[in-house]
Amino acid sequence: MATYFFVIFITLVLMSIYILGVLSESMYEKERVDMFAKANIIADTTKNHIGIQDGQIGESIIRTLAGTKIRGIITDSAYTVLFDTNTEAELLGKIFMRDIIKTSLGGEQAYSVYKNPSENSNMIAVAVPIKQNESITGSVYLTESVANTDKTINYIKMNLFIFSGLISILVGMLSLGMSYIVTSPVDEFILVAKEISKGNFSKRLKVKGHNELSEMAQTMNYMCEELEQIENNRKKFVSDASHELKTPLATIKLICDSIVSTENPDPSMVKEFLNDLNDEVDRLTRIVDRLLTLTKLDSKQDQTKFETVDLVELLNGVIRKLTPAANKKNISIYTEFNPEFAKPMLLDRDKILEAVYNIADNAIKYTPDNGFVRIGLYVSHETIVIKIEDNGPGIPESEKDRIFERFYRLDDSRARETGGTGLGLAIAKEAVAMHGGRIDVLSEEGVGSTFLIILPYIGK
Ligand code: ADP
Repeated sequence: MATYFFVIFITLVLMSIYILGVLSESMYEKERVDMFAKANIIADTTKNHIGIQDGQIGESIIRTLAGTKIRGIITDSAYTVLFDTNTEAELLGKIFMRDIIKTSLGGEQAYSVYKNPSENSNMIAVAVPIKQNESITGSVYLTESVANTDKTINYIKMNLFIFSGLISILVGMLSLGMSYIVTSPVDEFILVAKEISKGNFSKRLKVKGHNELSEMAQTMNYMCEELEQIENNRKKFVSDASHELKTPLATIKLICDSIVSTENPDPSMVKEFLNDLNDEVDRLTRIVDRLLTLTKLDSKQDQTKFETVDLVELLNGVIRKLTPAANKKNISIYTEFNPEFAKPMLLDRDKILEAVYNIADNAIKYTPDNGFVRIGLYVSHETIVIKIEDNGPGIPESEKDRIFERFYRLDDSRARETGGTGLGLAIAKEAVAMHGGRIDVLSEEGVGSTFLIILPYIGK
């Protein structure tokens, strides 16, 4: 910061020196031009009077310099003073030799700036030759103090330095303020970003005001919330999955222990145990299969592969698969397809099949004996609705969203008995969401449930 401040100060000082140089140069230049003009007039009007005592020299010089503070001296070619406006100096008739007079007697105009020790101020002096018929007969020497000009320059110089100082302080303070305003939130951002990289998503940034930084802070906080949510879901998923896998494994272990610890077991008992073992292995396989399906959907490895699907054929296939289970419970399956169903539709067949199967399978699983399940298909210009209705126990209003959570079951023991994994609806929801669709649930406890798979219609 100090360096920054110093650089600004030096830049301003250098700028001031440059401006002053240009300014004083132009002010001196003006004086110089003016004095040369006057000297030339004098030289011209006196050229014919050198060596003649007719008083014309004095008259010309006094007339030309009237109203100014310029001192004028006329010398002949031997440096003898013929006239001096400063009568007190007593130079008349004496030798007055100056470098610039020498130059002018050589035929050139000359100019010099020198210090007047008595007044301690700068003086400007000019000398021009007096020419009479090609020969140089004398010199006009004019000199003037530039104390006033110097005073003005000094005044400007002082003000420029004060101005540079003030500007530097102001810029310094502004940059300090700005750096505080900008760097302190940035430091906070860095801190939170470091925490995120360590896997700690609980940190939040303070959102102050309404500017780009506060918007960034809001976005970062939102990102932290999302990450925290994802992390919590991940942890919950891992612990739930381990728990789900542990239960059948514990049962398998128990059955194995029972067989091993029984001496000469009855073959019918062993068969029974083996049957139980078989059920548990089936259950484990089901859980692992569904976990794999979910992991695939999550990782988006499994991109949606759209193809032309005959939904009626797909629904009839699901019904065919579920009919044996429905027959066991004497559940009737009805269908209702609206006339538009024949339109070509682009869908990911496997994913939609998975979603429909899981929901229809639940309908049969949770509907008591002698109930019914109705499967409908309604296609309009914009949407496809697959409706799966049952007259089972229904779903309480408060649980309608939760049933789509992973491993969530309304009635754990009943769901387990029916072979439920708690993953069927989570898979269905993901599969439908990948089509840009959603699943709605309408239900009345004790009356039944209706699941609506709503998909955007994409024609061929
Ligand atoms: P499960 O494998 O246990 O069926 P799901 O994710 O498919 O898991 O369903 C979650 C829970 O939602 C089920 O355990 C059940 O309690 C409830 N459920 C799902 N469908 C129905 C339905 N048609 N009628 C009543 N309850 C249902």
